[in-house]
Amino acid sequence: MADNIPIGTIKHAEDIWPDKEWKTRSNKNRKLIWHACIDCGKERWVRFREGKPQNSRCLSCALKEHLRNNPHPMEGKHHSLESRQKMSITHKGIPSPLTSNIEKGC
Ligand SMILES: [Zn+2]
Repeated sequence: MADNIPIGTIKHAEDIWPDKEWKTRSNKNRKLIWHACIDCGKERWVRFREGKPQNSRCLSCALKEHLRNNPHPMEGKHHSLESRQKMSITHKGIPSPLTSNIEKGC
C-alpha cells in the first residue's frame, strides 16, 4: 500500500498511523513527507520541517555519510607512535654522567 504514495506527499502522523497510540499531541500532529533517500532511493516517511524533509537520507545512508565526513581513526595506533618518538627524544636528551665528567676536564 505504501508503494502507491507519490514522492512528496505530506501527511500528518495521525493520518499515516491512525491506529497508533500517541503519547503527546505534538507527535500526533507532526507533519511527514514521503521522501526517497538521495543515496539509495529508499522511500519512507520523513519528518517535514521548515518546508523540507528533515533528513534527505535514510538512516543507514546518513550513518555512512557521517562516517565518511568524520573518519574514526583506529584507536591506539597514532598514540603509540607518538609516545615512542617522545621516549627516544627523552633518552637522547639525558646527559650521561660519563660525558659531563670528561667536559669538566681538569
Ligand atoms: Zn539510503
